[in-house]
Amino acid sequence: MTDTLVFYSEPDPFEVWRDALLPHLGDHVRIEKAGAVTDPEAVRFALVWMPPAGFFAGYRNLELVINLGAGVDRLVARDDLPDVPITRLSDPEMGRMMAGFVLFSVLRHARDIPNFQAAQTRREWAYKHPRGASETTVAVLGLGELGALAATEIARQGYDTHGWATRPKDLEGVTVHTGDDALGGLLAIADIVVCMLPLTSGTGNLMDEAAFAAMKPGAAFVNVSRGAVVDEPALVEALRSGHLSGATLDVFAAEPLPADSPLWTLPGVLITPHLASVALPKSAAPQIAANIRAVQTGGEVINQVSRVRGY
Ligand code: NDP
Repeated sequence: MTDTLVFYSEPDPFEVWRDALLPHLGDHVRIEKAGAVTDPEAVRFALVWMPPAGFFAGYRNLELVINLGAGVDRLVARDDLPDVPITRLSDPEMGRMMAGFVLFSVLRHARDIPNFQAAQTRREWAYKHPRGASETTVAVLGLGELGALAATEIARQGYDTHGWATRPKDLEGVTVHTGDDALGGLLAIADIVVCMLPLTSGTGNLMDEAAFAAMKPGAAFVNVSRGAVVDEPALVEALRSGHLSGATLDVFAAEPLPADSPLWTLPGVLITPHLASVALPKSAAPQIAANIRAVQTGGEVINQVSRVRGY
């Protein structure tokens, strides 16, 4: 009996992922789409993005669940998750794509682009003398796979770059702060705060009214992690009052962002539809295949997620 990998994702095309994985898996594993699985008993591996409730109950012999993405909040929150290793993607291209988006967001605020876009609608030559990068302080909340790369890219551009995580780490050009007590002080010094935290029981609604109040007047906020890390009404109020000068937002409490959300029209706000980074089949396939082979041969499974930490 050949081991089977079952694939489920609404947004990701099965055929593209199958074709990317085939050269790495060869004859060792059959790749089948959920709904067209020939023998559920043969399914030992699941490559999934937000499968429907009850999905895992259909595959009793699962030995590995691979989250088709970096954020695992939806997966670890489920009550039907089998007691097997859970892995996430840690794809270098995904990291570069995210770092590029975050750098764009930081530059957008650091170089006053919202200001010039607003002036352009008025046909106004609104000269504002640029600041040097080292005069702008950027705080990256979350220094994981994606956050660490983004922070070092920002630092490479010469920005005064700080980061926040639970554990200390050594990142070139980045001053790392740790623990809950450090957050208020960090928010108070940053001109731009970039949220790259996973959504967990410890980070839900972390950016609330008090957190936005702790930010510098005129600072900007970037969120590329999960909408629920932010108290959205508090963000709206911080923008509406002018306490924050703008925001670049890729993720929201409700997605798609409802048409009546005030965020659509607040000055200085850029809305993008949750695409700061995506999993890319060709660059992610080798690590997925390596983990599958590790399960088959008793090797070490990498990029495992901690159910206790939630990321
Ligand atoms: P990781 O899980 O690799 O890292 C999480 C980071 O957050 C770690 O540095 C961790 O600290 C830190 N952290 C977690 N909890 C706390 C806390 N309570 N206080 C302080 N720091 C904390 O995440 P990634 O960098 O890979 O990804 C970040 C998020 O980006 C994902 O969880 C996902 O939600 C989102 N994402 C968004 C995409 C988009 O298109 N918008 C695409 C892909 C991902 P430590 O290092 O000490 O453990």
